[in-house]
Amino acid sequence: MNLLKMARTNPHQNAKELIIEAADKINLEPWIRDALLTTHRELKVYFPVQMDDGSIKNFTGYRIQHNHMRGPFKGGIRYHWNVNLNEVRALATWMTIKCGVVDIPMGGGKGGVICNPKDMSEKELERMTRGFVQRIAPIIGPNIDIPAPDVYTNAKVMSWIVDEYSKCVGKKVLAVVTGKPLELGGSEGRDKATAKGGLFVLKEIIKEKYVKGLDSLKDKTVVVQGFGNAGATFAQFMYEEGAKVIAVSDSKGAIVNKGGLDIPKVIEHKTKTKCLGDCSDAANTTNEDILEMDCDILVPAALENVITMENVERIKAKLILELANGPVTTGADKVLYKKKVVVIPDVLANAGGVTVSYFEWRQNLDEEHWSKEEVNKKLEKIMNRNTKLVIETAKKHEVSTRLGAYILSMGRIAEKAPDELKEGHFNCYMNNNL
Ligand code: NAD
Repeated sequence: MNLLKMARTNPHQNAKELIIEAADKINLEPWIRDALLTTHRELKVYFPVQMDDGSIKNFTGYRIQHNHMRGPFKGGIRYHWNVNLNEVRALATWMTIKCGVVDIPMGGGKGGVICNPKDMSEKELERMTRGFVQRIAPIIGPNIDIPAPDVYTNAKVMSWIVDEYSKCVGKKVLAVVTGKPLELGGSEGRDKATAKGGLFVLKEIIKEKYVKGLDSLKDKTVVVQGFGNAGATFAQFMYEEGAKVIAVSDSKGAIVNKGGLDIPKVIEHKTKTKCLGDCSDAANTTNEDILEMDCDILVPAALENVITMENVERIKAKLILELANGPVTTGADKVLYKKKVVVIPDVLANAGGVTVSYFEWRQNLDEEHWSKEEVNKKLEKIMNRNTKLVIETAKKHEVSTRLGAYILSMGRIAEKAPDELKEGHFNCYMNNNL
């Protein structure tokens, strides 16, 4: 990749440009804007792991804490070969904005380990997770920074983190991560929360008649890129709502059926074969092609920078719902806005995940267990309310929904920012069970 292209697709740079634009719109005090343009703390770790063949391999990982004006840092841990400092900084920054958009009292953080989890055994992944936790333990904890799952990490990885962190501090601490298995203090509804939150946002957008020609989900055509926790669950919800999911993809390729895929069958096929290709009643195609298909709703649910200046002119969807973090670059976003393609930004569209993570954390601290109905009802209320507020803010300032979301969130962050100057504000660090 050449340097110019790298600069255009540096996700942290994209996030910072939006913060500057939103700060200008609301005349944000410069010290608050500058704090949001940098990160509160960055930890890079390097640690050895014993592999199954007896060899020892070193891994590099990061935990980045972006901002905690509204509460403890919160954000997932990603296992991927492309993990890098700018990506994790961007993901941490988006978490701060996201928590502000849904108005939960948390700040932004994110972590990642450079590895290829697909080439590692479960035992190797467990040892790597434990090694990573030993290195980041001094800066995480239920009152400071609470990780969660992200790409290629799941409830099992979270359970290893609880166990290793608890060993480090000498007592069982469930509230150190969210996205745990139910039997280990996980929340009902967390596994589907990101997709469910996206569904609530989409329904509210339709109810508010925000997208011309999109008056219901029935028979609407949907394309989903990424078929993991967020993407596959969302595709299933769309199928249940009577929409036609015409194409889906994963890291190995894509499948298409213009008459509509049978999503439960596709999920069964993926579970059995570990890939989507050669699924019955579907033709094989590519990830690039499905992004450019004629459809009502396009749902990027994999990784960053998939809609860029290179393909944006060929995007035909009426609405883009960003379940992934950062799938549309800032330049492409501006082109889509001009073309009147509505983009529901990641910081709203996928915020159901962190919202139910917050619920899980609260249940752990209060030693409660909420029913699935209770969780979903609370989630729906939060997503509906804040979707309306994002739309109102965007309309008021005559900007895109993305900038509307940033303006809404940064206004909320600014209300709490002066607390940073109060004596004893950092007392929370003293209570970190260390
Ligand atoms: P996951 O690991 O469960 O699934 C990732 C999916 O993306 C897999 O199907 C994988 O095959 C696919 N993929 C990977 N590389 C790809 C590529 N180059 N092209 C197409 N598909 C590719 O991860 P997830 O939890 O579903 O996360 C997906 C996105 O959603 C990420 O951007 C993540 O940050 C975001 N997100 C997830 C959550 C959550 O709660 N899981 C919350 C908020 C945001």
